[in-house]
This record gives sequence, C-alpha cells and structure tokens, in this order.
Amino acid sequence: MDTYMKLTAYGDNPEAALDMAEEKITELEELFSVTLSTSDIGRLNSSMGVPTEVDDQTSALISRSKILSEKTDGAVDITVYPLVREWGFTTGNYSVLSSERTEELLKFTGSSYISVSENTVTIPENFQLDLGSAAKGYAGEKAAEILKEAGISSAIMNLGGNIQTVGEKPDGSPWKVAVTDPLSPSEVICTISVRDKAVVTSGNYQRFFMGEDGRKYCHIIDPKTGRPVDNGLASVTVIGSSGTDCDLLSTALFVMGEESAVEFIKENSGFDMLLITEDGRVIITGNIFNDTEFTEKEIKNNAEVIV
Ligand code: ADP
Ligand code: MG
Repeated sequence: MDTYMKLTAYGDNPEAALDMAEEKITELEELFSVTLSTSDIGRLNSSMGVPTEVDDQTSALISRSKILSEKTDGAVDITVYPLVREWGFTTGNYSVLSSERTEELLKFTGSSYISVSENTVTIPENFQLDLGSAAKGYAGEKAAEILKEAGISSAIMNLGGNIQTVGEKPDGSPWKVAVTDPLSPSEVICTISVRDKAVVTSGNYQRFFMGEDGRKYCHIIDPKTGRPVDNGLASVTVIGSSGTDCDLLSTALFVMGEESAVEFIKENSGFDMLLITEDGRVIITGNIFNDTEFTEKEIKNNAEVIV
C-alpha cells in the first residue's frame, strides 16, 4: 500500500496473531493494488467492460465504497482514478491538467456505473478503480478482527497514518492517538483517547506537489471538478468503529469542505470528527472534545465544538 505499517499487540503469544494479521494485510494488498496488473483491481481496470470475478473481500469493499459515495453525494468516488493518474499522483510525474482534459476524463467517472453482483464486478470501458481512499481502513478493520479472533484484546496498528485500535491499553486506560498538525506536519496538534476504534485522517499535507503557478495541488480529487481539492481545509480526522467507513468518510468530508462536512457529521451518528482549516481553526465533535488533549491550551480554548 506504498506506506509503512506498525502492528503492536499485547497478551499471550501475540507474535502468532500478529503474523496472521500481517498475512491478511499482504493478501489485501495483492487484491487491491492499483499498480499490480494481476490484482483484482488491476484486472478490473483492464477488463474493457467485461464482467470480472473478484474475491469476496474486493466486492465487499467496492460495494461499501459505492454506498458511501452515494451517501456523500459523490464526494468519495473510487472511479476518480483516471484523474488521480493523469495529475501524476500514482507516478510522481505531476502535471496540472487542462480543463479540456479534465472534462474528458470526468466522463469516465461515477460510482453509480459500477455494478456488483455477488463477486462479479462490472465497470464500463475506460473506467478505472482505485481503492486508495478505503484500502488501509479496510485492512485495519480486518486485521483487528483477526487479532480479536486470536484472543488479543489489546492492540494498536498504524497503517500509514490510519490508526486502528483493538480494545484498550493493557493497563485498562484508553489508547492515545496522536493527530499530526497539518499546518506543521512534524508536530502533533492533539492526542485523542479511544477504545476499540479507528482514527483516520485525510489531509493536504502529505501527498501534494507545487505547480509552476506556485499553487499547491494535493492528492485528493474533487470528483465534481476533477481537480485537487482546494477548499480551505487542511485535514479531516474521522473516529468510529469501522475502519473502512472512517477511511472513506475522511476522504469524503475533506472533499465536501467545512460546511457540508459539519452538516454531514451532525446528521450521521456513530462518527466523530476533528476538522482543521488552513487558517488554523479547529472544529471538533462534542463527544470526543473531553477525550482530546491539545498540545497548546490556546487551541482547546478556541476550538469550535459541534454536537
Ligand atoms: P491517504 O491515502 O493519505 O490515506 P485518503 O484515504 O484520503 O488518503 O485517500 C486518498 C487516495 O484516494 C488518493 O491518493 C487517491 O488514490 C484516491 N482518491 C483521491 N481522491 C479521491 C476521491 N475523491 N474519492 C476516492 N478516492 C480518491
Ligand atoms: Mg480515506
């Protein structure tokens, strides 16, 4: 998944459980990789409209992505890959796309055009899928399930910045998950105390390039415009029970922007959110406000707490 991962578990013989979790993550990487032509996603992306049989896990994740795409009015959309690729986010050969080319590629996007029937998936010709917005969250969720089945009740996993916890710390206290300050990425802005939850962040500070026009272009594409998101948000962290949903939603809420993200989180219970704007404002749901320790008092005092 093109990143570093660190899995930590406590209990009797955690090594065997961790080996199984690692195996699961490797298996999922081999199913979901967009750069591997033999992966399920690789095969779908060269399927030319022909129905393609995939692993149950692949069809499950595509289905979930479709549902959350619909729920977020298309803000997260696993069909934006043609744009992600041509902007250069896959290879590092970055280029600012012309509006003509953007329009052309947008014709080959839209999650509603994906059809999933049990484990057969069909995508229209010229469509390409990319599970980058969901794969790490899904992998974390599945790895957590495996650890629990193996009797582990205390673990924390960092899958490229996506945090998945199992239970609580061995001493019975909650896990403290650090959130990067998107405006100063070498620093932590706060730690959030959680038990048995996923904490997933999408932001514009990790993968981006500077255009010749001096502007910053980040790796998250607004499926409505086909262009990198530039809406004043610096990062969105989503906290919830399902790593998959948190990952999909962190991307979606980042695309939606401040106003719609706040509205969405108010209407959908079961998720908490920490949103940081490029002008340094912090918006946080009341549920986690008291479980969050900010590195500076000022930030806590100025945070906007939403219900
Ligand atoms: P990260 O990869 O840093 O964890 P995200 O979970 O937000 O961040 O996923 C971003 C990745 O998803 C991008 O690198 C790209 O491959 C893909 N992507 C970009 N924009 C979208 C979008 N609007 N919907 C779905 N996937 C996207
Ligand atoms: Mg995501």
